Amino acid sequence: MTTTDNQLYTKCLIIGSGPAGYTAALYTGRANLAPVLIEGMQPGGQLTITTDIENFPGYPEGTTGSGLMDDMRRQALRFGADMRQGTVSSIDFSSRPFKATTEDGLVVNAETIILATGASARFLGLEDEKKFMGLGVSACATCDGFFYRGKKVAVVGGGDTACEEALYLSNLASEVYLIVRKNYLRASKVMQQRVFDKPNIKVLFNTNTVGLYGEEFLEGAHLVEFVGTPEENRFDLPIDGFFLAIGHTPNTSLFSSAIELDKEGYVVTDHPHTSTNIPGIFAAGDVADPYYRQAITAAGSGCRAALDVERFLAER
Ligand code: NDP
Repeated sequence: MTTTDNQLYTKCLIIGSGPAGYTAALYTGRANLAPVLIEGMQPGGQLTITTDIENFPGYPEGTTGSGLMDDMRRQALRFGADMRQGTVSSIDFSSRPFKATTEDGLVVNAETIILATGASARFLGLEDEKKFMGLGVSACATCDGFFYRGKKVAVVGGGDTACEEALYLSNLASEVYLIVRKNYLRASKVMQQRVFDKPNIKVLFNTNTVGLYGEEFLEGAHLVEFVGTPEENRFDLPIDGFFLAIGHTPNTSLFSSAIELDKEGYVVTDHPHTSTNIPGIFAAGDVADPYYRQAITAAGSGCRAALDVERFLAER
């Protein structure tokens, strides 16, 4: 790697700092590729805003999301990864080395790039969500739950994230409503059971949110149950906090004009490899994974991307 004031050259640039990015940095670092990793707006990625991690192998007593990410980061640093804070704002894919420019004007000339930009929380798309953002609406219970001690809150969604958020909030809030659009939870059985066992979580099945209300702060949600059926029923639920947990959208806007995406917006890779439609560009983690989306699978794909980079460079 060579450096001038605002220019870097590297054999491997990694964009993103979740389990995929840090694992790719660990492997490419150990392969003497001296990777540069741009950490993005949320160093450590989505796991830094989750609480306990019980399902990452190697932690028999569990660990915290931020603890796990800190461990991964330090492990990659130990093998020479050059971690940079900041966000990549553009990439020139037209020739190798590719040129990635950050918002601070740093230009990284990279023989290969691993895209590990992850995914972001999804919103329902209601105008009221924007109106009450930070004033009662949140997509992160572990970040904002603290503000709702002793209050009434709702979580939207029926997956593992929604159950996890509801359980977390149930230890702070007086009452938690889980708003589920279908008549079943999609979450794993163990999470469902934990939710059903909590006396202060009430699951509202077959229920959709159609609006939010309040003066300055959120005061409640307009709900409708059994929408489109003869039993359709509109009612208001007084709550102080409204937490979204309805899945994620892959973060691809940086490269969507050049990199092939599937119909849901995930990066298409050449399974079982991590290569994309542009030779020398690889993708790992949630940005390329609509199915598994686990820390361990993201870390695994970061490893695969690093090995693919090594082979790509060796062949040339
Ligand atoms: P999922 O895609 O699994 O679930 C999303 C939920 O949101 C579904 O119940 C879905 O409803 C609902 N939903 C989606 N859009 C809307 C909408 N517009 N209005 C109302 N409800 C909506 O996402 P998760 O984030 O929960 O989980 C992602 C992955 O991460 C999963 O594989 C999960 O297992 C994993 N995970 C694992 C954890 C753990 O093991 N500790 C913790 C958290 C996540 P519907 O079912 O009707 O489509």
